[in-house]
Amino acid sequence: MCDTPKTVEDQQPANRRVFLKSAGVAAIGAALGPRLAMAEVPKPENVISTDAGLKRLMEGNERYASGKSGAHNFSAAREALVSGQNPFAAILSCADSRISPEYAFDSSNGDLFVVRVAGNFVSEEGLASLEFAAEYLGTRLFMVLGHDSCGAVNGAISAIHDGAVLPGHIPSLVEAIGPAVGLAEEKSGNLLENAIRENVRMNAATLRASSPILSKLAASDELKVVGGVYNLKTGRVELID
Ligand SMILES: [Zn+2]
Repeated sequence: MCDTPKTVEDQQPANRRVFLKSAGVAAIGAALGPRLAMAEVPKPENVISTDAGLKRLMEGNERYASGKSGAHNFSAAREALVSGQNPFAAILSCADSRISPEYAFDSSNGDLFVVRVAGNFVSEEGLASLEFAAEYLGTRLFMVLGHDSCGAVNGAISAIHDGAVLPGHIPSLVEAIGPAVGLAEEKSGNLLENAIRENVRMNAATLRASSPILSKLAASDELKVVGGVYNLKTGRVELID
């Protein structure tokens, strides 16, 4: 019987490890040297800087919102991606069925590494997943994506303000989103809208500060973490500070 791999990296073939390291360097916008064998990169178009990646996301969102999404050849992409993946962006999105990051940014398979949970907050497993994208797939652009009328945030407000008792494991969402509700309470305006924004900001900050992997990349400006709020009616994503 084979020995159990000790780490994720141990499970990768040697040439795959080399590719992952190479893609990691290239994806942060460093010069793409001729020695990087493009044949080893499943999607060469994904080896771009974080600024170019964000521009690509927002341009894709504009196409989606205006009903001009592109036609994607999923079959051809599937074949190219059998050997690996190099997504240019990672999205921490709400699980809400009305949002689909791949559609919202008019992207194809292999482009986005998506982690979803109701309320788009950083959980232990979600963080581990995003660290995997940064460490092993070379992804350097992260977006925390909330949306208007978020039921998870609204549920947290109901529980905190009205004492609503939520069944099952749903209170764990309240616990995670509660701090953002607290920050929103200090602001004027619509509590739900403010809580949604604070929740995005807080979780983006959490990712930037998360040690050891993400904080190190953020400190050297290799990692870019942005926040966005998706509008259910228009389909447009607004970037927020
Ligand atoms: Zn939601």
